[in-house]
Amino acid sequence: MSVVTRFPPSPTGFMHVGNARTALFNYLYARRHGGKFLVRIEDTDRKRHSEEAVQVIFEGLEWMGLEYDGEALSQFAGMGRHAEVAHEMLKAGKAYYCYCSPEELEAMRETAKAEGRSQFYDRRWRDRDPSEAPQDIKPVVRIKAPLEGETTINDVVQGAVTVAHDQLDDFILLRSDGTPTYMLSVVVDDHDMGVTHILRGDDHLNNSFRQKLIFDAMGWTLPVFGHLPLIHGPDGGKFSKRHGAQSVREYKELGYLPEAFCNYLLRLGWSHGDDEIISREQAIEWFDLEHIGRSPARFDFAKLDSLNAHYIKEARPERLLECSREFYKERHGLELSDIAVERITLGIEELKARSKTLLQFVDESAFYARSIPYAFDEKALALLGESKAILAALEDELESLEPFTGESIQNLCQKIAGDLAEGKLGKVAMPLRAAVTGTTVSPSIFGACAVLGRKETCARIRFAVQQGK
Ligand code: GLU
Repeated sequence: MSVVTRFPPSPTGFMHVGNARTALFNYLYARRHGGKFLVRIEDTDRKRHSEEAVQVIFEGLEWMGLEYDGEALSQFAGMGRHAEVAHEMLKAGKAYYCYCSPEELEAMRETAKAEGRSQFYDRRWRDRDPSEAPQDIKPVVRIKAPLEGETTINDVVQGAVTVAHDQLDDFILLRSDGTPTYMLSVVVDDHDMGVTHILRGDDHLNNSFRQKLIFDAMGWTLPVFGHLPLIHGPDGGKFSKRHGAQSVREYKELGYLPEAFCNYLLRLGWSHGDDEIISREQAIEWFDLEHIGRSPARFDFAKLDSLNAHYIKEARPERLLECSREFYKERHGLELSDIAVERITLGIEELKARSKTLLQFVDESAFYARSIPYAFDEKALALLGESKAILAALEDELESLEPFTGESIQNLCQKIAGDLAEGKLGKVAMPLRAAVTGTTVSPSIFGACAVLGRKETCARIRFAVQQGK
């Protein structure tokens, strides 16, 4: 049997971390078995539907590198087919029309509440002759759920989970306007798409029993179910905004590399011995259902940060720059020129070693991409004002310094510190940093000047001296 998994998000305008993990697990499982990973957009809520919300999902999948097979399906487009299945069930005696009025339903609800029952519908139309149907009521179609016994789902994560049939009601398949309910649509789509494995959040476990009834009624093969425990916050409570970023887009915007994010999500609820760093290739080779955790995993931001730092260190310069391009633009209004790319690449090892996120990488390397005239922050301006004489002397000597390397620049700064600043290297290095970068935070300034080269370094110092207050 060839494996077919699916990712069926509801387009809410937001792709939650939990959804992202579900997508990743389904993707990995399909790839591991040379199967298919399908995407279905559950877009039947037309009132709230927006194309933009659908795009957010595709954007998230693309960023995470989760390529799906074939075209993404629209659940809405399949509604005719879903209704057809309800009619087949009617014909086969597996479903029936229910003509209850809203008042009758309300009364049943009240009674059930008073008696402490969660199932309120009393199945009054289940065996009634349709000739008794009132003319003024458009019926719904309900499933004929079994009255006795129980249903067991052998969940690959949760184990065998059983529910007594008296806990399952004759739920609605088609509304009175003829539109299918979510419960029906999901099953028909999963069947028609040939889905063999359903991995999803355990908030859907209760739905699975009802969905199984539809599979059984139609005589369709039941997929394998695996319900993943939800993700909790670091404090063990429900993972929510107060803990930190919730959506995939936010993680992208905070400067996480998708490879770090995916590695983190993989480990969040799945394990392979003590392995922490797991490449996509290894994940595809190793991912299995046996090692999905049974209890909720806690989101650990420090761990994510350390993975991100790792992947930043490992990344090729082109990859880092490709992922950072937008940030240079958004945060610093900078387009990366060829010379900027060349300089950042030359200085990249130190930048990588310092960076926990791409935002830090970008902020601390933006000076390489600037050109005169550039702006200075407040602290830098203040330093420049105090150090004009030192900077002028330094610039003068840098003009003829040979060779022009990080080491020789440092030695020169030390010498000038001896002459003009009681031997304190910081008194020369800090103003130099302020002058050349416009800020007070950067990688080693001596190495940075060497990367910029003599001409640019001296021009920047001359420019800065004119700006200092
Ligand atoms: N649309 C559902 C959700 O986003 C998915 C349900 C399922 O996996 O069957 O939670």
